[in-house]
Amino acid sequence: MSRQPDIAATRLGAAKPSASMAAKARADAMRAAGRHIIDFTIGEPDFPTPAHIVEAGANALKHGHTRYTASAGTVELRAAIARKLKRDNQLHYKTNEIVVGCGAKQVIFNAFMATLNQGDEVIVPAPYWVSYPEMVLINGGTPRIVNCDARDGFKLRAAALEHAITPRTKWLVLNSPNNPTGAVYSATELRALGDVLDRHPHVHIMADEIYEHFVYGGAKHVCLLNANPALRSRTLLVNGLSKSHAMTGWRIGYGAGPAGLVQAIVLLITQSTTCAGAAAQAAAAAALDGPTQSVTDAARMFESRRNRLIERLSGIEGVHCETPDGAFYVFASVAGLLGRQAPTGKWLQSDTEVAEYLCEEGGVVAIDGTSYGLSPFLRFSFATSMSEIDRGCDAIEAAVSRLKPR
Ligand code: PLP
Repeated sequence: MSRQPDIAATRLGAAKPSASMAAKARADAMRAAGRHIIDFTIGEPDFPTPAHIVEAGANALKHGHTRYTASAGTVELRAAIARKLKRDNQLHYKTNEIVVGCGAKQVIFNAFMATLNQGDEVIVPAPYWVSYPEMVLINGGTPRIVNCDARDGFKLRAAALEHAITPRTKWLVLNSPNNPTGAVYSATELRALGDVLDRHPHVHIMADEIYEHFVYGGAKHVCLLNANPALRSRTLLVNGLSKSHAMTGWRIGYGAGPAGLVQAIVLLITQSTTCAGAAAQAAAAAALDGPTQSVTDAARMFESRRNRLIERLSGIEGVHCETPDGAFYVFASVAGLLGRQAPTGKWLQSDTEVAEYLCEEGGVVAIDGTSYGLSPFLRFSFATSMSEIDRGCDAIEAAVSRLKPR
C-alpha cells in the first residue's frame, strides 16, 4: 500500500518521512497533551548557539544582509569553509569547489538529484542515518543496503564493500562519526576501503563528516581524504554547522568536491531555494573563523553524558551496548527484551514494540533500530542533560522490571 496521497508523484514511491523527525513530533505531541516525556530522540545539541555567532548573525541583519546571495553561498562563507578545510583537515579547496546548502541535508539531497539516473545504485552501510535511503529512492536510485554487524563495531568492512559494488554503483555513502551508532572509522579502516575503491573508479564517495568534532576517549576523527588522497576527484565531503556549533535552526551545511559536481548541485539550488539565508551564512562564517572553545566544551560535555548513559544502560538487564567513539548517540541492543510480556499481556516481538512499550509505560522516547536499518536496537541520544539521562534510565529500568520473562 502506498503511504503517499493520490496526488503524490510516482517518484515518491514508497519513500517514508524521516523517522527521527516523526519520533520528535510524537514526543512533542505527548508533551503537549500533558504527559511528562523523557526524550532520547534529540538529534541536535540541547544548548543555544554560542553568543558570538548569534551576534554575527544579528549584525549581518543590521548591516543589510537581507537579500539573496550567490546560489553557491557567499564568497565570504565559502572562503571561511576553505580555511576550515585547510586548518582542520589539511585539504585545499577553491571556492568554486565548495557549495553552501540549507543544511547538509540539502547538499546530500541535491547531490543525489544531480547525479542519479533511474536504477543507479547507492551503497548505504546499515545502520544508517534515516534520510540516505529515502533520498536515494526519491531521486530514482536504488539503495543497496549493506549490514554492518555490531561485532564489527557497526563498520563497513572492505570485503563487504567489494561484494556490494556493481557496474551500476554510483555512490558509496560513508558517515563517520556515525549516526546512529557513534562508530568512528580509523585511518587503517578507511585505507582498507580506499584500496577497494581504487579498483572501482566509477564509484563516487559521499563522506558525511558532520559529527567530526564529537569524538571521545582518545578516538580521532580521520577525514576520508586524509587516509585516501587519491579519492579526492570523486569524493563529495559533506559537513555543516548544525551539530558542531549548535546551529540546527540556522540551516547551513556545505559540500566540497570536484567543480563539475559542485556546479550541478548549485544549478539545483538556483532552481529551488536560490540560496541559504544571508544572515545565517554570515553567522556561519563567523563560527568557522571564530574561537573554537565552544566546540571543545560541547565535546567534553557530550563525553561525560555518553559515559553516564552507557553506565546506566549497561546496568539494565536485557539491554546491551558498546561505548560509542563519536557523535551523540548510543545504539543499544534490546535483543534481551524480546519475547517478554508487558503488563498489558502484549508480547514484545521487535525493537519497534520495545520502543512503544518504553514510551507508553515509562514515558521514555527512543527510536527503534528498524528505522536505521538494523534490528533489534534502540537509538538513544545523549544530547540531553545528565538529570534527564538519569531520570530516563530510572524509568526504563522500572518499565523493564515490569516485563514478565519468556
Ligand atoms: N548527516 C547526518 C549523519 C545527520 O545526522 C544529519 C542530521 O541529523 C545531517 C546530515 C543533516 O544535518 P543538517 O541538514 O542540519 O546540516
